[in-house]
Amino acid sequence: MDASAFLVLAFASAEIVVLWDRLTGNLILRRINTTMALKIIEIGHPVLREVATELSPEQLASDEVQTFIDDLIDTRKKANGAGIAANQVAVAWRIFVVEIANNPRYPYKPEYPLTVLVNPKVELLSADRYDSYEGCLSIPNLRGSVKRCPEVHVTGLDRAGKQVSFDVKGITAGTFQHEMDHLEGILFPDRVEDPKTFCTWDEFSERYEEDFKKTVASVEARYAG
Ligand SMILES: [Zn+2]
Repeated sequence: MDASAFLVLAFASAEIVVLWDRLTGNLILRRINTTMALKIIEIGHPVLREVATELSPEQLASDEVQTFIDDLIDTRKKANGAGIAANQVAVAWRIFVVEIANNPRYPYKPEYPLTVLVNPKVELLSADRYDSYEGCLSIPNLRGSVKRCPEVHVTGLDRAGKQVSFDVKGITAGTFQHEMDHLEGILFPDRVEDPKTFCTWDEFSERYEEDFKKTVASVEARYAG
């Protein structure tokens, strides 16, 4: 927008500014260029059970969706998730974000650069499975062991609408399967085969984390090394 055509009248909040459009005389509310952490919904909320809908190229290019993607990235970062899907902030669009860097919730996870996927597909590349002890931002203080494939092929669009296609190997492949499940309305407890593996985060640290770190090390050495 042409800044000279607008006059800032007031800051309606820390993040919203009121502009006066000199040409039309209209008042406009605009977000200042900051991101906003969104509210993460929890198990029981029906949007977590919705099959998310694909975005058209026009929708993806819109300010609304681009701002939403910025906010989703920010939400994941503030909550220390390894990834987050749009359903988790009550928006059933086929978008998820993965980013792993010095994550205090998952200290054993290898780093993975910020990846935004729109209309993604995650294809399992083999019949191999490992025991993935998962958690979820939408299911506070619960972990459980899920079978995941350690090698996947991922396709979809990046946030600019460009087609992307890449493999993910090692335990990060499990993260992509977890996020993909969200877009289908599936939560990790649905995939827990042995309910006795359910535990709180404290019990996980005390009783299961050491063994799980060994699983992580062997999966990483075999598939990602
Ligand atoms: Zn989750």
